[in-house]
Amino acid sequence: MTFESLGLKKELLKAVEEKGYTTPSPIQEKAIPVILEGNDVLASAQTGTGKTAGFTLPILQIITDTKNPKFRPIRALILTPTRELAAQIYDNIKDYSKYVNIKSAVIFGGVNPKKQISTIKNGVDILVATPGRLLDLHDQKALSLKRIDILILDEADRMLDMGFVRDIKKIIALLPSKRQNLLFSATFSKEIKALAKGILSNPVLVEAAPENTTAEMVTQKIYRTPKSRKAAMVIQLISDGNWNQVLIFTRTKHGANRLVEKLQKNDISSAAIHGNKSQGARTKALKEFKENTIRVLVATDIAARGLDIPLLPQVINYELPNIPEDYVHRIGRTGRAGASGEAISLVANEELEYVKNIEKLLKQKLKIAELEGFDLTPTEPSQPESTSKSSSKNKKPSSGNQTKRNFRNKKGSKNNEENKAAPIRNNRKKSKRRPNKGPRNIT
Ligand code: AMP
Repeated sequence: MTFESLGLKKELLKAVEEKGYTTPSPIQEKAIPVILEGNDVLASAQTGTGKTAGFTLPILQIITDTKNPKFRPIRALILTPTRELAAQIYDNIKDYSKYVNIKSAVIFGGVNPKKQISTIKNGVDILVATPGRLLDLHDQKALSLKRIDILILDEADRMLDMGFVRDIKKIIALLPSKRQNLLFSATFSKEIKALAKGILSNPVLVEAAPENTTAEMVTQKIYRTPKSRKAAMVIQLISDGNWNQVLIFTRTKHGANRLVEKLQKNDISSAAIHGNKSQGARTKALKEFKENTIRVLVATDIAARGLDIPLLPQVINYELPNIPEDYVHRIGRTGRAGASGEAISLVANEELEYVKNIEKLLKQKLKIAELEGFDLTPTEPSQPESTSKSSSKNKKPSSGNQTKRNFRNKKGSKNNEENKAAPIRNNRKKSKRRPNKGPRNIT
Protein backbone atom coordinates (compact mmCIF):
# COMPACT_ATOMS: atom_id res chain seq x y z
CA MET A 1 0.00 0.00 0.00
CA THR A 2 1.27 3.47 -0.88
CA PHE A 3 0.11 6.97 0.06
CA GLU A 4 -0.59 7.53 -3.63
CA SER A 5 -3.08 4.69 -3.75
CA LEU A 6 -5.09 6.33 -0.96
CA GLY A 7 -6.16 9.09 -3.35
CA LEU A 8 -4.08 11.93 -1.97
CA LYS A 9 -3.05 14.78 -4.26
CA LYS A 10 0.54 15.29 -5.31
CA GLU A 11 1.13 18.37 -3.14
CA LEU A 12 0.29 16.32 -0.06
CA LEU A 13 2.29 13.31 -1.26
CA LYS A 14 5.31 15.55 -1.61
CA ALA A 15 4.96 16.78 1.96
CA VAL A 16 4.51 13.21 3.22
CA GLU A 17 7.61 12.14 1.35
CA GLU A 18 9.57 14.95 2.96
CA LYS A 19 8.51 13.69 6.37
CA GLY A 20 10.18 10.44 5.41
CA TYR A 21 7.10 8.21 5.53
CA THR A 22 7.19 5.46 2.95
CA THR A 23 4.06 3.46 3.71
CA PRO A 24 0.82 4.48 5.37
CA SER A 25 0.20 3.14 8.86
CA PRO A 26 -2.90 0.90 9.29
CA ILE A 27 -5.05 3.74 10.64
CA GLN A 28 -4.00 5.95 7.71
CA GLU A 29 -4.74 3.18 5.25
CA LYS A 30 -8.23 2.75 6.63
CA ALA A 31 -9.19 6.30 7.59
CA ILE A 32 -7.87 8.41 4.70
CA PRO A 33 -10.08 6.98 1.90
CA VAL A 34 -13.27 7.04 3.97
CA ILE A 35 -12.67 10.60 5.15
CA LEU A 36 -11.97 11.68 1.56
CA GLU A 37 -15.34 10.20 0.59
CA GLY A 38 -16.99 12.55 3.08
CA ASN A 39 -18.03 9.98 5.66
CA ASP A 40 -18.30 10.50 9.38
CA VAL A 41 -15.71 8.36 11.13
CA LEU A 42 -15.49 6.76 14.56
CA ALA A 43 -11.87 5.74 14.98
CA SER A 44 -10.26 3.67 17.68
CA ALA A 45 -6.65 4.75 17.69
CA GLN A 46 -4.17 5.53 20.37
CA THR A 47 -1.28 7.97 20.09
CA GLY A 48 1.61 6.52 18.18
CA THR A 49 -0.47 4.94 15.44
CA GLY A 50 -0.07 7.83 13.00
CA LYS A 51 -3.64 8.99 13.59
CA THR A 52 -2.77 12.68 13.24
CA ALA A 53 -1.73 12.30 9.61
CA GLY A 54 -4.71 9.94 9.26
CA PHE A 55 -7.13 12.81 9.69
CA THR A 56 -4.95 15.80 8.77
CA LEU A 57 -4.08 14.70 5.23
CA PRO A 58 -7.64 14.07 4.03
CA ILE A 59 -8.90 17.25 5.71
CA LEU A 60 -6.24 19.26 3.91
CA GLN A 61 -7.28 17.70 0.64
CA ILE A 62 -10.99 18.34 1.16
CA ILE A 63 -10.50 21.94 2.26
CA THR A 64 -8.05 22.67 -0.59
CA ASP A 65 -10.35 21.18 -3.23
CA THR A 66 -13.39 23.12 -2.07
CA LYS A 67 -11.73 26.39 -1.17
CA ASN A 68 -13.43 29.68 -1.79
CA PRO A 69 -10.93 31.84 -3.69
CA LYS A 70 -12.04 35.00 -1.85
CA PHE A 71 -12.96 34.04 1.71
CA ARG A 72 -11.08 32.15 4.31
CA PRO A 73 -13.58 31.23 7.01
CA ILE A 74 -12.66 28.54 9.54
CA ARG A 75 -13.81 25.36 7.84
CA ALA A 76 -12.19 22.61 9.86
CA LEU A 77 -12.11 22.57 13.65
CA ILE A 78 -9.90 20.14 15.54
CA LEU A 79 -10.66 19.89 19.25
CA THR A 80 -8.04 18.40 21.55
CA PRO A 81 -7.82 17.96 25.32
CA THR A 82 -4.41 19.55 25.98
CA ARG A 83 -2.26 22.43 24.84
CA GLU A 84 0.61 20.11 23.98
CA LEU A 85 -1.51 17.93 21.76
CA ALA A 86 -3.00 21.02 20.10
CA ALA A 87 0.49 22.38 19.41
CA GLN A 88 1.65 19.05 18.00
CA ILE A 89 -1.31 18.68 15.68
CA TYR A 90 -0.72 22.22 14.46
CA ASP A 91 2.95 21.40 13.76
CA ASN A 92 1.83 18.38 11.78
CA ILE A 93 -0.66 20.44 9.77
CA LYS A 94 2.03 22.98 8.95
CA ASP A 95 4.33 20.21 7.70
CA TYR A 96 1.66 18.54 5.58
CA SER A 97 0.25 21.80 4.16
CA LYS A 98 3.58 23.11 2.87
CA TYR A 99 2.53 22.79 -0.77
CA VAL A 100 -1.17 23.68 -0.57
CA ASN A 101 -2.70 27.10 -0.04
CA ILE A 102 -4.12 26.44 3.40
CA LYS A 103 -3.72 28.49 6.54
CA SER A 104 -3.96 26.94 9.96
CA ALA A 105 -3.73 28.19 13.52
CA VAL A 106 -3.73 26.85 17.05
CA ILE A 107 -5.36 28.33 20.13
CA PHE A 108 -5.13 27.18 23.73
CA GLY A 109 -5.31 28.66 27.20
CA GLY A 110 -2.46 29.69 29.46
CA VAL A 111 -1.07 32.24 27.04
CA ASN A 112 -2.12 35.74 26.07
CA PRO A 113 -4.91 35.48 23.48
CA LYS A 114 -3.95 38.65 21.57
CA LYS A 115 -1.74 36.95 19.00
CA GLN A 116 -4.24 34.15 18.55
CA ILE A 117 -7.00 36.66 17.88
CA SER A 118 -5.00 38.58 15.29
CA THR A 119 -3.96 35.36 13.52
CA ILE A 120 -7.60 34.30 13.25
CA LYS A 121 -8.60 37.76 11.98
CA ASN A 122 -6.15 37.35 9.10
CA GLY A 123 -8.01 34.27 7.93
CA VAL A 124 -7.60 30.64 8.90
CA ASP A 125 -8.91 27.53 7.15
CA ILE A 126 -8.12 24.96 9.83
CA LEU A 127 -8.21 25.74 13.54
CA VAL A 128 -6.81 23.48 16.25
CA ALA A 129 -8.17 24.37 19.67
CA THR A 130 -8.65 23.32 23.24
CA PRO A 131 -12.32 23.69 24.20
CA GLY A 132 -11.98 26.37 26.89
CA ARG A 133 -9.98 28.88 24.84
CA LEU A 134 -12.20 28.29 21.80
CA LEU A 135 -15.31 29.19 23.78
CA ASP A 136 -13.55 32.21 25.33
CA LEU A 137 -12.60 33.60 21.94
CA HIS A 138 -16.04 32.81 20.56
CA ASP A 139 -17.64 34.69 23.45
CA GLN A 140 -15.37 37.62 22.65
CA LYS A 141 -16.57 37.41 19.05
CA ALA A 142 -13.01 36.88 17.93
CA LEU A 143 -14.05 33.93 15.76
CA SER A 144 -17.04 32.40 14.07
CA LEU A 145 -17.82 28.71 13.80
CA LYS A 146 -20.70 29.13 11.37
CA ARG A 147 -18.78 27.88 8.34
CA ILE A 148 -17.32 24.72 9.82
CA ASP A 149 -17.53 21.81 7.37
CA ILE A 150 -15.47 19.29 9.33
CA LEU A 151 -15.29 18.73 13.08
CA ILE A 152 -12.58 16.51 14.52
CA LEU A 153 -12.56 15.40 18.15
CA ASP A 154 -9.13 14.01 18.93
CA GLU A 155 -8.49 11.95 22.05
CA ALA A 156 -12.18 12.21 22.84
CA ASP A 157 -11.80 9.90 25.85
CA ARG A 158 -9.30 12.32 27.38
CA MET A 159 -11.58 15.25 26.77
CA LEU A 160 -14.34 13.52 28.71
CA ASP A 161 -11.92 12.48 31.47
CA MET A 162 -10.84 16.08 31.79
CA GLY A 163 -14.42 17.27 32.15
CA PHE A 164 -14.86 18.91 28.76
CA VAL A 165 -18.17 17.29 27.91
CA ARG A 166 -20.25 20.43 28.53
CA ASP A 167 -17.83 22.59 26.57
CA ILE A 168 -17.95 20.15 23.68
CA LYS A 169 -21.73 20.23 23.67
CA LYS A 170 -21.70 24.04 23.75
CA ILE A 171 -19.27 24.13 20.83
CA ILE A 172 -21.32 21.69 18.79
CA ALA A 173 -24.37 23.88 19.26
CA LEU A 174 -22.43 26.69 17.55
CA LEU A 175 -21.63 24.63 14.44
CA PRO A 176 -23.74 24.22 11.32
CA SER A 177 -25.79 21.03 11.56
CA LYS A 178 -24.62 19.80 8.17
CA ARG A 179 -20.97 18.85 8.53
CA GLN A 180 -18.57 15.93 8.50
CA ASN A 181 -17.55 14.57 11.91
CA LEU A 182 -14.51 12.55 12.90
CA LEU A 183 -14.09 11.19 16.41
CA PHE A 184 -10.81 9.62 17.54
CA SER A 185 -10.50 7.87 20.87
CA ALA A 186 -8.10 5.34 22.37
CA THR A 187 -10.75 3.75 24.56
CA PHE A 188 -14.52 3.42 24.30
CA SER A 189 -16.44 3.99 27.50
CA LYS A 190 -20.20 4.25 27.71
CA GLU A 191 -19.79 8.03 27.78
CA ILE A 192 -17.74 8.07 24.58
CA LYS A 193 -20.33 5.95 22.84
CA ALA A 194 -23.08 8.31 23.98
CA LEU A 195 -21.08 11.31 22.77
CA ALA A 196 -20.38 9.62 19.44
CA LYS A 197 -24.05 8.78 19.02
CA GLY A 198 -25.02 12.40 19.53
CA ILE A 199 -22.45 13.75 17.08
CA LEU A 200 -21.78 11.24 14.34
CA SER A 201 -24.17 10.36 11.59
CA ASN A 202 -23.87 6.88 10.15
CA PRO A 203 -20.15 6.69 10.96
CA VAL A 204 -17.68 4.32 9.39
CA LEU A 205 -15.90 2.44 12.15
CA VAL A 206 -12.15 2.35 11.83
CA GLU A 207 -9.64 0.78 14.17
CA ALA A 208 -5.87 0.85 14.25
CA ALA A 209 -5.04 -1.68 16.92
CA PRO A 210 -7.61 -3.60 18.91
CA GLU A 211 -8.89 -1.49 21.74
CA ASN A 212 -6.93 -1.56 24.95
CA THR A 213 -4.09 -3.60 23.59
CA THR A 214 -0.60 -2.24 23.84
CA ALA A 215 1.73 -1.60 20.94
CA GLU A 216 3.18 -4.90 19.80
CA MET A 217 6.72 -3.68 19.77
CA VAL A 218 6.73 -2.60 23.43
CA THR A 219 8.49 -4.83 25.93
CA GLN A 220 6.76 -4.53 29.29
CA LYS A 221 8.45 -5.25 32.59
CA ILE A 222 7.71 -4.86 36.25
CA TYR A 223 10.28 -4.26 38.96
CA ARG A 224 9.02 -4.84 42.48
CA THR A 225 10.33 -2.30 44.97
CA PRO A 226 9.13 -0.49 48.06
CA LYS A 227 8.06 3.10 47.45
CA SER A 228 11.00 4.39 49.43
CA ARG A 229 13.49 2.84 46.98
CA LYS A 230 11.87 3.90 43.73
CA ALA A 231 14.02 6.97 43.10
CA ALA A 232 17.20 5.00 43.75
CA MET A 233 15.98 2.32 41.36
CA VAL A 234 15.20 4.81 38.61
CA ILE A 235 18.62 6.39 39.02
CA GLN A 236 20.29 3.01 38.78
CA LEU A 237 18.28 1.94 35.73
CA ILE A 238 19.04 5.16 33.89
CA SER A 239 22.72 5.20 34.83
CA ASP A 240 23.39 1.50 34.20
CA GLY A 241 21.46 1.47 30.94
CA ASN A 242 22.99 4.80 29.91
CA TRP A 243 19.50 5.83 28.84
CA ASN A 244 19.28 9.21 27.24
CA GLN A 245 15.61 9.76 26.55
CA VAL A 246 13.35 8.51 29.27
CA LEU A 247 9.79 9.52 29.97
CA ILE A 248 8.73 8.90 33.57
CA PHE A 249 5.17 9.03 34.80
CA THR A 250 4.26 10.01 38.32
CA ARG A 251 0.76 10.25 39.74
CA THR A 252 1.17 13.63 41.37
CA LYS A 253 2.63 16.98 40.39
CA HIS A 254 4.43 17.14 43.69
CA GLY A 255 5.90 13.68 43.13
CA ALA A 256 7.10 14.76 39.69
CA ASN A 257 8.92 17.78 41.14
CA ARG A 258 10.49 15.71 43.87
CA LEU A 259 11.76 13.10 41.48
CA VAL A 260 13.31 15.76 39.24
CA GLU A 261 15.18 17.15 42.25
CA LYS A 262 16.54 13.71 43.08
CA LEU A 263 17.57 13.01 39.49
CA GLN A 264 19.30 16.33 39.22
CA LYS A 265 21.19 15.72 42.47
CA ASN A 266 22.51 12.62 40.75
CA ASP A 267 23.56 14.52 37.64
CA ILE A 268 20.71 13.20 35.52
CA SER A 269 19.36 16.19 33.62
CA SER A 270 15.59 16.28 33.84
CA ALA A 271 12.50 18.46 33.90
CA ALA A 272 8.92 18.04 35.09
CA ILE A 273 5.84 18.71 33.03
CA HIS A 274 2.51 19.03 34.83
CA GLY A 275 -0.50 21.25 35.36
CA ASN A 276 1.20 23.65 37.77
CA LYS A 277 3.90 24.53 35.26
CA SER A 278 3.39 27.52 33.02
CA GLN A 279 2.85 26.93 29.34
CA GLY A 280 6.31 28.40 28.70
CA ALA A 281 7.95 25.96 31.11
CA ARG A 282 6.05 23.01 29.61
CA THR A 283 7.02 23.93 26.05
CA LYS A 284 10.65 24.46 27.07
CA ALA A 285 10.83 21.12 28.89
CA LEU A 286 9.34 19.26 25.95
CA LYS A 287 11.64 20.99 23.48
CA GLU A 288 14.73 20.21 25.53
CA PHE A 289 13.65 16.63 25.92
CA LYS A 290 13.04 16.22 22.19
CA GLU A 291 16.38 17.80 21.40
CA ASN A 292 18.15 15.55 23.88
CA THR A 293 19.31 18.50 25.97
CA ILE A 294 17.75 16.78 28.98
CA ARG A 295 17.67 13.03 29.50
CA VAL A 296 14.50 12.64 31.50
CA LEU A 297 11.05 14.12 31.30
CA VAL A 298 8.89 13.48 34.36
CA ALA A 299 5.21 13.90 33.61
CA THR A 300 1.80 13.45 35.14
CA ASP A 301 -0.82 11.69 33.02
CA ILE A 302 -2.75 14.79 32.08
CA ALA A 303 0.31 16.80 31.07
CA ALA A 304 1.64 13.93 28.98
CA ARG A 305 -1.52 13.53 26.97
CA GLY A 306 -0.73 13.31 23.31
CA LEU A 307 2.95 14.13 23.61
CA ASP A 308 4.52 13.32 20.28
CA ILE A 309 8.03 12.16 20.93
CA PRO A 310 9.09 9.94 18.06
CA LEU A 311 11.10 6.81 18.76
CA LEU A 312 11.00 7.14 22.51
CA PRO A 313 12.97 4.14 23.74
CA GLN A 314 12.01 4.03 27.44
CA VAL A 315 8.93 4.81 29.44
CA ILE A 316 8.94 4.30 33.20
CA ASN A 317 5.87 4.15 35.37
CA TYR A 318 7.25 5.48 38.63
CA GLU A 319 3.82 4.85 40.06
CA LEU A 320 1.19 2.79 38.33
CA PRO A 321 -1.99 4.60 37.36
CA ASN A 322 -5.12 3.57 39.23
CA ILE A 323 -7.06 3.68 35.94
CA PRO A 324 -5.87 0.72 33.84
CA GLU A 325 -6.60 2.50 30.55
CA ASP A 326 -4.05 5.16 31.54
CA TYR A 327 -1.39 2.47 31.51
CA VAL A 328 -2.19 1.81 27.85
CA HIS A 329 -1.94 5.54 27.12
CA ARG A 330 1.34 5.86 28.96
CA ILE A 331 3.12 3.01 27.28
CA GLY A 332 1.79 4.19 23.92
CA ARG A 333 4.62 6.74 24.17
CA THR A 334 7.17 4.10 23.36
CA GLY A 335 7.54 1.68 20.47
CA ARG A 336 5.94 4.30 18.27
CA ALA A 337 5.21 3.88 14.56
CA GLY A 338 6.90 0.51 14.35
CA ALA A 339 9.95 1.21 16.54
CA SER A 340 10.62 -1.02 19.52
CA GLY A 341 10.51 0.30 23.05
CA GLU A 342 10.55 -0.66 26.68
CA ALA A 343 7.91 0.12 29.29
CA ILE A 344 9.03 -0.38 32.87
CA SER A 345 6.80 -0.20 35.92
CA LEU A 346 8.07 0.17 39.46
CA VAL A 347 5.56 -1.58 41.63
CA ALA A 348 5.26 -1.31 45.40
CA ASN A 349 3.09 -3.68 47.41
CA GLU A 350 0.34 -1.08 47.57
CA GLU A 351 0.12 -1.10 43.77
CA LEU A 352 -0.33 -4.82 43.24
CA GLU A 353 -4.06 -4.34 42.85
CA TYR A 354 -3.38 -1.96 39.94
CA VAL A 355 -1.21 -4.61 38.28
CA LYS A 356 -4.11 -7.06 38.44
CA ASN A 357 -6.48 -4.59 36.83
CA ILE A 358 -3.99 -3.73 34.10
CA GLU A 359 -3.36 -7.40 33.34
CA LYS A 360 -7.09 -7.98 33.18
CA LEU A 361 -7.49 -5.15 30.70
CA LEU A 362 -4.53 -6.26 28.57
CA LYS A 363 -5.47 -9.92 28.91
CA GLN A 364 -1.81 -10.52 29.47
CA LYS A 365 0.50 -11.11 32.43
CA LEU A 366 3.24 -8.54 32.96
CA LYS A 367 6.72 -9.97 33.30
CA ILE A 368 8.47 -9.45 36.63
CA ALA A 369 12.15 -8.60 36.26
CA GLU A 370 14.85 -8.25 38.88
CA LEU A 371 17.42 -5.55 39.38
CA GLU A 372 20.57 -6.25 41.28
CA GLY A 373 20.47 -4.74 44.73
CA PHE A 374 16.70 -4.39 44.68
CA ASP A 375 15.75 -7.96 45.41
CA LEU A 376 12.55 -7.19 47.21
CA THR A 377 10.70 -10.00 48.79
CA PRO A 378 7.44 -9.04 50.44
CA THR A 379 8.57 -9.87 53.97
CA GLU A 380 11.77 -7.87 53.88
CA PRO A 381 11.98 -4.68 55.92
CA SER A 382 12.31 -1.47 53.93
CA GLN A 383 15.07 1.08 54.08
CA PRO A 384 14.75 4.82 53.92
CA GLU A 385 15.32 6.28 50.50
CA SER A 386 18.84 7.40 49.88
CA THR A 387 19.45 9.28 46.71
CA SER A 388 22.19 11.77 47.36
CA LYS A 389 25.04 11.60 44.92
CA SER A 390 27.44 9.86 47.21
CA SER A 391 24.92 7.40 48.53
CA SER A 392 23.60 6.58 45.07
CA LYS A 393 27.04 5.38 44.21
CA ASN A 394 26.80 2.97 47.09
CA LYS A 395 23.29 2.08 46.36
CA LYS A 396 23.98 -1.03 44.39
CA PRO A 397 24.38 -3.19 47.43
CA SER A 398 25.50 -6.37 45.84
CA SER A 399 25.34 -8.23 49.10
CA GLY A 400 21.74 -7.19 49.48
CA ASN A 401 22.26 -6.89 53.24
CA GLN A 402 21.48 -3.22 53.33
CA THR A 403 18.37 -3.82 51.31
CA LYS A 404 17.20 -6.70 53.41
CA ARG A 405 17.86 -4.91 56.66
CA ASN A 406 15.47 -2.13 56.00
CA PHE A 407 12.68 -3.40 53.77
CA ARG A 408 9.34 -3.60 55.51
CA ASN A 409 6.23 -4.03 53.51
CA LYS A 410 3.65 -5.01 56.02
CA LYS A 411 0.34 -3.39 55.32
CA GLY A 412 0.05 -0.11 57.13
CA SER A 413 3.75 0.04 57.86
CA LYS A 414 5.68 3.26 57.67
CA ASN A 415 4.25 5.95 55.55
CA ASN A 416 6.75 7.86 53.46
CA GLU A 417 6.34 11.31 52.03
CA GLU A 418 4.88 10.16 48.76
CA ASN A 419 1.90 8.69 50.55
CA LYS A 420 0.98 12.14 51.69
CA ALA A 421 0.78 13.66 48.22
CA ALA A 422 -2.83 13.74 47.09
CA PRO A 423 -3.14 11.64 43.95
CA ILE A 424 -3.97 13.89 41.04
CA ARG A 425 -6.89 11.78 39.94
CA ASN A 426 -8.34 11.03 43.35
CA ASN A 427 -11.58 12.72 42.53
CA ARG A 428 -12.12 10.90 39.27
CA LYS A 429 -15.04 8.61 39.66
CA LYS A 430 -14.04 5.07 38.94
CA SER A 431 -17.62 4.14 38.25
CA LYS A 432 -17.57 6.41 35.22
CA ARG A 433 -15.03 4.24 33.48
CA ARG A 434 -15.95 1.32 31.35
CA PRO A 435 -15.55 -1.92 33.23
CA ASN A 436 -12.76 -4.03 31.83
CA LYS A 437 -14.30 -5.79 28.92
CA GLY A 438 -12.24 -7.02 26.06
CA PRO A 439 -11.55 -5.49 22.70
CA ARG A 440 -14.65 -4.10 21.08
CA ASN A 441 -15.81 -5.35 17.80
CA ILE A 442 -15.16 -2.57 15.43
CA THR A 443 -13.52 -3.09 12.15
P1 AMP B 1 0.59 10.08 15.94
O1 AMP B 1 -0.06 8.78 16.32
O2 AMP B 1 -0.20 10.84 14.95
O3 AMP B 1 0.94 10.88 17.17
O4 AMP B 1 1.98 9.75 15.20
C1 AMP B 1 3.00 9.05 15.84
C2 AMP B 1 4.35 9.24 15.17
O5 AMP B 1 4.42 8.49 13.96
C3 AMP B 1 4.66 10.67 14.78
O6 AMP B 1 5.99 10.93 15.18
C4 AMP B 1 4.54 10.71 13.27
O7 AMP B 1 5.43 11.65 12.72
C5 AMP B 1 4.92 9.29 12.88
N1 AMP B 1 4.24 8.80 11.65
C6 AMP B 1 2.98 9.09 11.26
N2 AMP B 1 2.68 8.43 10.11
C7 AMP B 1 3.77 7.70 9.77
C8 AMP B 1 4.08 6.81 8.68
N3 AMP B 1 3.20 6.53 7.74
N4 AMP B 1 5.31 6.25 8.67
C9 AMP B 1 6.21 6.52 9.66
N5 AMP B 1 5.98 7.35 10.71
C10 AMP B 1 4.77 7.93 10.77
